[in-house]
Formats: sequence, C-alpha cells, structure tokens
Amino acid sequence: MISSRSSVDVPASARIVIIGGGIVGCSTAYHLSKLGWRDILLVDQGPLYHNWGSTSHAPGLIFQHNNSRTVCQLAQWTVETYREIASRAASPAFFQVGSIELAGSRARAEELKRKFGNTKAWGLEAHLIDNAEIARRVPVLNTDDLFGGLHVPSDANVNAAVLGEALARAAQEKGALSVFDNTPVLGIEQAGGRVRAVVTARGRIRTDLILCAAGIWGREIGRMAGVSIPLTPMQHLYARTGPLAELKGESEELRHPIMRDQDRGMYYRQHRDAYGFGYYGHLPLPIEIGSVPRKKNAAMLPFTPEHMAGAFRAANHRVRGLAQAGIDHSFNGVFSFTPDSQSILGEKPELRGFWVAEAVWVTHGGGVGRAMAEWLDQGVPSLDLREVDITRFPPHAGGKRFILERSSQQYAEVYDIIHPLDQPRAGRNLRVAPYHNRLQALGAHFFENTGWERPRWFESNRPLLEKMVAVPVRDPWAARNWSPLCAAEHLACRERVGMCDLTPFAKFEVTGRNALPYLQNLTAKNVDQACGKVVYTAMLDERGGIKCDLSIVRLAERKFWIITGSRMAFHDLAWMHRHRPDDDSVHIADLSSTYCSIGIWGPQARAVLARVTDAAVDNAAFPYFTAQPLHIAQIPVLAVRISYVGELGWELYAPTEFGLGLWDKLWEAGQAFGLVPVGDGAVDSLRLEKGYRAWGADIHTEYNPFEAGLEFAVNLNKGDFIGRAALLEARKAPPSKKLCCLIVDDPAVTLMGKEPIFAAGQVIGYVTSANTGYSVGCSIAYGYLPATFIEPGNRVEIYYFGNYHSATVSSEPLFDRINQRMKS
Ligand code: FAD
Repeated sequence: MISSRSSVDVPASARIVIIGGGIVGCSTAYHLSKLGWRDILLVDQGPLYHNWGSTSHAPGLIFQHNNSRTVCQLAQWTVETYREIASRAASPAFFQVGSIELAGSRARAEELKRKFGNTKAWGLEAHLIDNAEIARRVPVLNTDDLFGGLHVPSDANVNAAVLGEALARAAQEKGALSVFDNTPVLGIEQAGGRVRAVVTARGRIRTDLILCAAGIWGREIGRMAGVSIPLTPMQHLYARTGPLAELKGESEELRHPIMRDQDRGMYYRQHRDAYGFGYYGHLPLPIEIGSVPRKKNAAMLPFTPEHMAGAFRAANHRVRGLAQAGIDHSFNGVFSFTPDSQSILGEKPELRGFWVAEAVWVTHGGGVGRAMAEWLDQGVPSLDLREVDITRFPPHAGGKRFILERSSQQYAEVYDIIHPLDQPRAGRNLRVAPYHNRLQALGAHFFENTGWERPRWFESNRPLLEKMVAVPVRDPWAARNWSPLCAAEHLACRERVGMCDLTPFAKFEVTGRNALPYLQNLTAKNVDQACGKVVYTAMLDERGGIKCDLSIVRLAERKFWIITGSRMAFHDLAWMHRHRPDDDSVHIADLSSTYCSIGIWGPQARAVLARVTDAAVDNAAFPYFTAQPLHIAQIPVLAVRISYVGELGWELYAPTEFGLGLWDKLWEAGQAFGLVPVGDGAVDSLRLEKGYRAWGADIHTEYNPFEAGLEFAVNLNKGDFIGRAALLEARKAPPSKKLCCLIVDDPAVTLMGKEPIFAAGQVIGYVTSANTGYSVGCSIAYGYLPATFIEPGNRVEIYYFGNYHSATVSSEPLFDRINQRMKS
C-alpha cells in the first residue's frame, strides 16, 4: 500500500504539489521521480487506493490506436509504463490480451483499413483479420454479421487503481514523493501572475508549481485558481454479466482480447467467467458544469437501465449465452469530456506555475505522466503535444454552453466514423468576418476554425466548372467535405485573381524599447530590418523544434506585427508572453479581432489593387516581401506583399469596421479582371504545389527547420536566439530525415494525410499533407523520409484504404521554382 499521512499536517512547502491521486497524478509523480525530482507532494481529498475519482471504477480497456499520432504515442508510452510497473503491483493488474475492433458494417470495414494505415504510420503492430480469426480468438462471439476486424496484439486491459498505487509507491520508495490523502484542496494562492501556495484542509503548502490532476473536479480546482479548464463531467454506464456457461471453469482473470463493436456503440471485456460492456449509444448525459460535489460518490451515480436498453440488446446478440447469464453488477461512473474530446495538458499561460493534466483516459495516463514530467523538467516536451495543449482553446471555449454542446457532440460521436474534415455542429457562427454576409451571398461553404467561419469553397463559382477540363474524380472518402469548385478556384487564382478571407489570421503587435531584442531572441532570423520589410521565420523551442512559423512586419523602429495562422493563435501568443521580459520594456497586443484581412492573389492582383488605390503598387515602388500603409478608396489599409499561394499579391489589413467596405471595393474593382472568391480548399492545394509548409501538419516541434526544408528561415549568425544552440548541434551532422515532396503515380488518387509510406516493405514515414496540384496536374504528398530515401527519383509506396499506391520522390517546389510569379 502507499504510505499516506492522513493524521499529520501537510509540510510547509514542496517543489510541486500534485492535486489528485488518480492514475494521472500517480503516473506524473512516478515519472518525475525517475527524472530525479524530489520533494513532490501529492494530495487527494479521499483515500488513495480506490480513490474517489474515475480511476477506481474504470474497467481499464486500453485501445492504443488513435487517429492522432500524438495520442497514439501517449497510449504506447502508457502501455510501456504499466508493463514496467506491473510486477510491483499489489495484485495482477496488467493483462496484455490484445484488442479486436469489430466491423459491423462494410463502411466500418473500410474505416478499419484506414485505422490499419494509421497503426502502420504510428509504429503500432496491427492486423486486419477475418471473421473466422475473430471467432477463433473469442469463441463466445457471434460473428455472423461481421465484416472482419482489426487486431492490435499489444493492447491491454488493466486495473488502473492498482497500477496507480504501484506508481505512487515506486516514487515514494525513491524518497521522492509524500502522499497526503483525505486532504482536500480548498484554495490556490497566487501573486503577480504566479502560483504561490496550495491551501488544504490540513494546512497551507508553499509552492511555485501545481499540477491539477483532479479529474472531474478539474474545473473546480481551475476556478480556485481563477482559470478556466474546458471540460464537463459526463455519465457513463457499465454492466457486468453473471457467469457465462461458455466460460465456466475459466481460471485466468483475462484471456480474451478487449473488443469494440462501434457500429452498435459497444465495448467489451472479459471478467474471468463473465463479460462486461459499456455503451455510447444513448444520448450524452453531462453533469451540470461546476457542480461536482466534493464527496466520495460524486463520481458514481445511480445506474439508469433505460439508457442501457440498446446495449443489452446489442450484447445479447453479440455474446453467446449472455442473456442467460443475466447482469450481476452495473454502475454509472463519471468521467471528463472536452470540446474536442482530447486531453488538456500544459501550463495555464495566465497563471505561471499552474499546470493541468485533465480529461486523460486510463489509456493515456501512463504516457501523459511521462510527457508532463518531461515538460515540467525540461521546459519543453519531446513529443509534439499541440493537439492536447491547453493553449489550443480560444477564450470562448471556456463558456459553459460551448463546453456542454461541443463535449456532448464528442460523446455522441465517439464511435462514429469521422472524416478528418467533418465539421462540428455545435458552437457555430461565433466569429464571423465583417463581410460575412457577402460570403454567404456568394454561397460560401463554411468550415469552422477556433470559432471563425471560414469559406472552404464558393457555390457562386459553379459556372467556372463548365469551362474546365475534367477535374480528377475523387474516391468517396476523399470527395467528402470537398467540391470540384476547389479546383476551379485554384485555377482562377493562378490564371487571373482570387480574393480570400484572411480575417481569422492572428495579428500580434509587439512594441516597446526592447521589442527588437525580444523578437531577435524569440525568432530564428534577423528581424532587424528596415521599416517596411517583411521577414518569414519561425519561433523555435529550446530543442530547435518549430513552435510556429510566422511573418514579421517591421512597422517602426520599435513596432512590429507578427502574423500567424488562426488555428494556434493562442498557443503562439502564450509562447510569446512566456518569453516576454517581466518589466514593461515589451508590450504585446493581440490585434486579431481589431483588424480584418483580405488576400488578393493572382497575376491580375496588381491591376485590381491599382484600380482602388492612388499608391504606386508597381514592383519598384512596392517590392516583394515589403509592407506599406495605403488607402483603398477611403479605407486605411496595411498592405503586405506576400502570398501563401505562390502568386503575385497582397494581404490587406484594415480596421475591422472597414472590412465590409474593403471587400466591396476590391470585389467591384476585380470584376473587370475575372476576380473570383477563393476558399481554403483551393488555398491548400495552391500552397502545396508551391511547397509551402502547413504548421501542425508538415512542421511542428518534433522537426527542426533543417529537417523541414526551412533553412532559409534561419540565420545562425545573427546572435543568440531560442533554439540556436540546438540547431548548431544539429548542424554537426546532416539531418537523419527530411521533408520530401512525393508525386503519386496515379493523378486520380488523392490522399488525405497520415497514410504510411513504405519502401522495400518497410514503413519509412507517413504523409504529413496531401492534395491534388491542379496547376501541375498531379497528386502531391509530403512526408519526412530517412536521409537515404530523399533523392529525387526514389520510389516509394503509400498505403491508402487497402491499396498501395506507387509514388516518386520529387524535387520541390513543383510550381514556379524560381518565385518568378511572386516577384513579378
Ligand atoms: P481521477 O481518477 O478522477 O482522480 C482525480 C482525483 O483528484 C480524485 O481521486 C479526487 O479525489 C482528487 N481531487 C479532486 N478534487 C480534489 C480536491 N479539491 N482536493 C484534493 N483532491 C481532489 N478509461 C480508459 O482508458 N479505458 C476504459 O475502459 C475506461 N472506462 C471507463 C468507464 C467508466 C464507467 C468511467 C467512469 C471511466 C472510464 N474511463 C476509462 C476513464 C478513466 O477512468 C478516467 O479518464 C481516468 O481514470 C481519469 O484519471 P484521473 O487521474 O485524471 O482522475
């Protein structure tokens, strides 16, 4: 048992206080202790073994596969952690029985092929198996109506409470951890934007670091600290049968693989001679946010059989003898769901020292503990955690209604077949451009991004299709959330001129006497340029990984604009604030909502702009990669001569209230030049054939600029900057991998990203981005390949829905290699 101290006062101080002794708190303490940390204090409001939280009643199924590479890696680390600690557990708690995902429909069988591709890409062994093999592995199963399954041999079933206890005990035995149970946290003290102390029912603990691992109470702890943690507690029902005749005499605790029958919303596990099952088929049952009482049964509510009626039917059908065995035990546990169903990890930017590891499944608890420990210890995690980073949420995601609606949708769809471009239904139309009604009138098909409604394509462009040669027909999966209008808009932009809504871009203004040295330290290129110059570069982390890529415009001696993508605006802003000096020598203003932006791109862009401004916009007066203030009609605009599509053009920034007028002026002027509205679907294929990287897909913290082909965005001679030392070290040897451009032999095959890349039967990488290059007439994919494969002409194969498609490594970019069009 963990030695815990319920009867003495808590110590006066600790290096870190972990709130919550569930699997996440215990795992983080364990991994911190492995990194040499001491003076770790873990407090829990209840007893630890059989804690009050979700860990004590989770049936503990671990399916490692996830569409997200990060989340799958966290699960793989989890299995490693649990396997490592299992021999020290008080009772058997780790059963590596494997898993089978059942295909209950032809669509699911196709989806399993996609998942199989993911497992290859993410380095997880898996096999597509037929019904006979399923029946061989699980004889109690009715397989008549199945279409095969996906088998992952290393998946496991665990007793998370027992493993959690073993993890905490291992940390205690190192002398690293003290555990105080029956010690509720009542408050968090802070001063100057930093954590100072944790107040518990048994005393105050001075500390600079808190990890909130409080499970369904996470939001309450957040409230004590004055920060929002966007999660909602959600009810989840589970039932266990009596002994099954077919399992009579079963001696081993667990032998059968864990299973999912997602077409029926079901998952199953064996309990020696019985079966257990959980269900996602009923309507979501969220609990009023912020009202979880601080008591034992808060995470265990009365079982409501009416919500399980569908589950009983499905289970009776699937597991032979289940009806006769009856139900022996059932319960309604509570766990956390978030607006995008991912965990919430990291430090809250507005309160230094307040770290969060919330909404983490048992499946990821071991790995999250490792990632958190690394992050706390080294300042940056080795794994790209952007998809689970707490800074990914915009402020509106803290609202109760948003959390409830989005999280409920996530619960309802947790077992659905989700296309990577499927859009959320809840929480829409929250952030719209000032010319939104114009976009609507043009038949914009909107995708959502951090609350913004962004046009993907425009129905008004349909007549363009009549003049086009045939657009390659996409397979049904690639054709979802796509329109041939993306191709039409792409070509119109290349041939004439396109107008694109860029309002969601993040715009940060950096001013102050130390603005320049601050940015020199934060970015990889020399930003000490003449006023009006634009620099494309990256912010790196200490490991040299790409934290974000950005354009910097110098507007005055001590005034710069930083322009980055919208998706990770708050992530980028948090990084900037983290490195801002404590004094008042640098000011950062978020102007993202203050300014709207329109891109006007294409060979006729200059002609359009010249019609609406008196300013000279020829090449000599307004060179490439510069910015100038000018007026469009009577509208003050900052014009920045850059484009993400590889064409002559400008990004035009105006105060938001002028946005509608700006759209109308440009629109009117453009008619003579064949201007069309262009959505993000076209922009993605335009940027890909020009070789422009997309942050989050092609570049992120696991890659440095040399690997990513962004050497030109770095200047190692400019003086010191964050990540420089790591880059200097990296430069000592050629990169072991490089981002490469691949052309798929069959131009009609469009990949979606994440597909595994093979050479000589071995996986050598995965697709980071893919699309059709409508100007260059081929199917393009990008991916990191080992150095031995990067030579143009090398042949590889890419697995997509059961087929291997040949592709060739190509030099890049495929379009306008010498940047003639941008500089024209
Ligand atoms: P918890 O285990 O809830 O621990 C949080 C701790 O924080 C608690 O002990 C609590 O007492 C403490 N705490 C809270 N507030 C305070 C305070 N003010 N002061 C001091 N201490 C405090 N996951 C899987 O991966 N696979 C499954 O098969 C699975 N099945 C599930 C089935 C059910 C029915 C349920 C309910 C959950 C299931 N889960 C499963 C989810 C999983 O159980 C949880 O996601 C996981 O256990 C959360 O662990 P945790 O450490 O974050 O939180």
